[in-house]
Amino acid sequence: MKPKILILGAGYAGIIAANRLDKQVKDAEIVLISESSGFKERIRYHETASAGLKKEILIRDLLRTNVNFLQTKVTGILPKEKTVIIEAKNQNVHYDYLVIALGSSEIRKIQTKENSIQSKDAVLEFLKRKEISKIQNLCIIGSGLTGLEMATEWKYFYPKSRVTLIDRSELGSSFSKKAKEYLHTYLLKNEIEVLDKTKIDKIEGNEIQFENQTKRSFDCIINCTGFQSSSLPKESGFKTNSQNRIYVDPFLRSLEYPEVFVAGDSAYLENSILRMGCVTALPMGAYIADHLANVIQGKNLSPFSFQFAGRCMSLGREDGLIQMTHGDDKPKEWIIKGKWGAFIKELVNRFTIFSLMMEKNLPFRFYFWPKGNPILEKEKRISKPMVAGDLVV
Ligand SMILES: Cc1cc2nc3c(=O)[nH]c(=O)nc-3n(C[C@H](O)[C@H](O)[C@H](O)COP(=O)(O)OP(=O)(O)OC[C@H]3O[C@@H](n4cnc5c(N)ncnc54)[C@H](O)[C@@H]3O)c2cc1C
Repeated sequence: MKPKILILGAGYAGIIAANRLDKQVKDAEIVLISESSGFKERIRYHETASAGLKKEILIRDLLRTNVNFLQTKVTGILPKEKTVIIEAKNQNVHYDYLVIALGSSEIRKIQTKENSIQSKDAVLEFLKRKEISKIQNLCIIGSGLTGLEMATEWKYFYPKSRVTLIDRSELGSSFSKKAKEYLHTYLLKNEIEVLDKTKIDKIEGNEIQFENQTKRSFDCIINCTGFQSSSLPKESGFKTNSQNRIYVDPFLRSLEYPEVFVAGDSAYLENSILRMGCVTALPMGAYIADHLANVIQGKNLSPFSFQFAGRCMSLGREDGLIQMTHGDDKPKEWIIKGKWGAFIKELVNRFTIFSLMMEKNLPFRFYFWPKGNPILEKEKRISKPMVAGDLVV
């Protein structure tokens, strides 16, 4: 009988896994389940929150014809019974192999009035709740990649509004000296205020009170303190960390169930360099497809291999910063900035969709990535840099 492979979540990881599996396993039923019909280009949500909605690509148009797409919400996983519960007619769907790629569209809440740009619903809520052109005093909590991109994007479209970036850590601490200087110069020139190394005591009404007894008022607050995955796997009995990411082994399998693979932001490989990001979600999805094809064909297996090459950040629409990195994500002194930075960042964004399309259309595997052992050496484990996806407040 044909094995049935269920993939949960049609984000970067889920879509690449589905298409790449279909090319390599002819005798399998592949079903991709996701809650919406449109592909959510999360890496552009700071653009959407500042400049409004863009037309979405249909998920169906990103998939090979043999991949079955089921648009519904997953409400439960019963791993012992190899079954997933879906909202549509409260049905149970059986699997032989499961790939969990549900992403991380939630946040760890700080305050009830806060906004988020982690999910499409949150961005829509933000656009609906606020008459955005009326926002005069925006405070962004968290100055990681997402907070920085949001602050600079907003200031680009609304140069007269006051924008403040708040962080308990030092802004740019995971960047090289050159990159940090460039960031500070850019923020100063564009009048984006930075309150870093500043701990929040409490937020009451429209005012933030800091531990150093100072205060800051706001008319809009956005929480960019890190990504949080859905609690569904945890409630379904998987071992998860504080961000609800599922613990995986070096083959990206759940620790408890070897037929369950986890990709993208849903996966947590302990003591590794891996962080949440599209940069890791695509390779993980592609690897799982290759690996699962090998499992089904009884071939030899090798663990997930990955190294970083750089970090890309947009600074408004006309500027950008590319921080070249060592394989373990530590910054090199080499940066690309200004218009070239913006150009490369835009190319990288487009390359993600291009890769999904190529993986759909070409008969051979298209996507590749820098390889290497992602497990950190023992002595480097404590000093891992904080980047996107890490909780910063
Ligand atoms: C503003 C912003 C900028 C970013 N910029 C970058 C960047 O420059 N570089 C980078 O590497 N990363 C960036 N990221 C992070 C990146 O977007 C995520 O790491 C990436 O999307 C993770 O991919 P994924 O496939 O794991 O999950 P996702 O892309 O989140 O996809 C998960 C899918 O699962 C679906 N889903 C979830 N729960 C359910 C359910 N219960 N039932 C059915 N379907 C469900 C969701 O609707 C979604 O379609 C950025 C994120 C944000 C918010």
